[in-house]
Amino acid sequence: MTIYVGVDDTDSKVGMCTTYIAIEVLKRLMKENLGIVSYPRLVRLNPNIPWKTRGNGAIALLIGTGSAREQIIGEINGKPIFIISDEEPCSNELVEDVFSTVCEVIEEFYISDDKNTNPGVVVTCIKPPSTFYWSTVRSVVKLESVMRWLESQKVLYKGWGNKRGLIGALAAISWSPKDKTYELLTYKNRNEWLKRPLYDKESVKMLDKVLRCSFDNYDYVEDCACIFPRALTPVLYGVRGDDPRELKLALKIVKTNLRPYAWLIFETNQGTDDHIVRVCIGKIRSRMSVLIEGIVSEKPKIIEGGHVIFKVQDDTGEIYCAAYEPTKGFRKIVLQLIPGDKVKIWGSVKEYPNTVNVEKIEVIELKRIIIKRPPLCPICKKRMTSAGKGKGFKCKRCGTRLPEDTAVIEEIPRKLKEGIYEVPPVARRHLSMPIKRIKMRERGLC
Ligand code: ATP
Repeated sequence: MTIYVGVDDTDSKVGMCTTYIAIEVLKRLMKENLGIVSYPRLVRLNPNIPWKTRGNGAIALLIGTGSAREQIIGEINGKPIFIISDEEPCSNELVEDVFSTVCEVIEEFYISDDKNTNPGVVVTCIKPPSTFYWSTVRSVVKLESVMRWLESQKVLYKGWGNKRGLIGALAAISWSPKDKTYELLTYKNRNEWLKRPLYDKESVKMLDKVLRCSFDNYDYVEDCACIFPRALTPVLYGVRGDDPRELKLALKIVKTNLRPYAWLIFETNQGTDDHIVRVCIGKIRSRMSVLIEGIVSEKPKIIEGGHVIFKVQDDTGEIYCAAYEPTKGFRKIVLQLIPGDKVKIWGSVKEYPNTVNVEKIEVIELKRIIIKRPPLCPICKKRMTSAGKGKGFKCKRCGTRLPEDTAVIEEIPRKLKEGIYEVPPVARRHLSMPIKRIKMRERGLC
């Protein structure tokens, strides 16, 4: 029987990472002959939540007591972490033991002096309905509704501070992975958490070349490795991809000055577009992530801060879309749009006035730019000029006149091509599906 453990909101902007709780919990559970019966889960939730620390991630561990050791999915200080078979029933006592172990770890590691850190843990043998996951990844959930459910069920739970972490903790154990990816996370030694690692860029480029099913390792335009967190956290680096066995190669390829103390492969909803809801523009609300289809209705312009904004319209309304400054070169693509272009846009909506923060754009049909020019004078071979509205053309040199219907119709070629474009890896949302992955899925490779 599986014990579902969900944890969220243990970190702050100045330290910790909720995924590290998994390492400390597993370290303790392994001593008690307990183990995980499936990959640990890193579940990203609604990216538009203002009170998130960074990537709005929660974790879920599926714990059991089976004996057969199946595959190695991590290592803590040289000791392997196996996925074990889930054979034996779990007594209430055991569930309570697991609960107190997780609570002890949270007490020891959460950032208790930050009022924005409000941890939550949920432990249960009955998997909660996946509707909790879907509403937490796609909308804003009220703590009261989560509390009502927790109170009505036989689950063990605890919240610290304002207890908001219970929302993410419940969502994480409710996730039933359909589309999923993996992330190999490596962790620093505790005395090195505040050290920024030095690394060999070429080794990250090599990793990117060798790992066929991996994505967002290196941003070649910005010339920067994306596997290292920007903030100082216990995480040394994280490598994402579709094949967990392939990800292990990263341990041999990536060269840094810090040796990982532990590594663990998480199953995750990163890169799945699970946050996206297909809607018409009239139905867009704050804090949703959407896929809309419409026509560019206002020319893109650069505003203060280097952001590019434009408008898109469908039969139900019109909305501003934005490629913000951190999306770097992506803005050059967006600036080539013109009114009349037919587009699909994936993006997140923060708050009023609603603006879609573009993650990907598909140019479905380019508006043709057709211009009418005066003809060449048949006598002097020079370009004629307009003789006035609807009055045809005249030659300034020899005075020849030609009627309006002799105008030359020309099409100006567009630089922009039809196709799909995305923000660069440095600006990627965790949940956003990279084009590389879209293409691999189309070819049945993942
Ligand atoms: P990190 O990714 O570095 O672990 P974080 O960005 O996940 O940090 P948290 O510190 O976990 O941020 O804060 C997010 C908070 O928002 C949590 O308390 C979580 O329960 C809550 N939360 C997540 N999704 C929603 C949602 N859809 N509605 C309401 N609250 C949410």
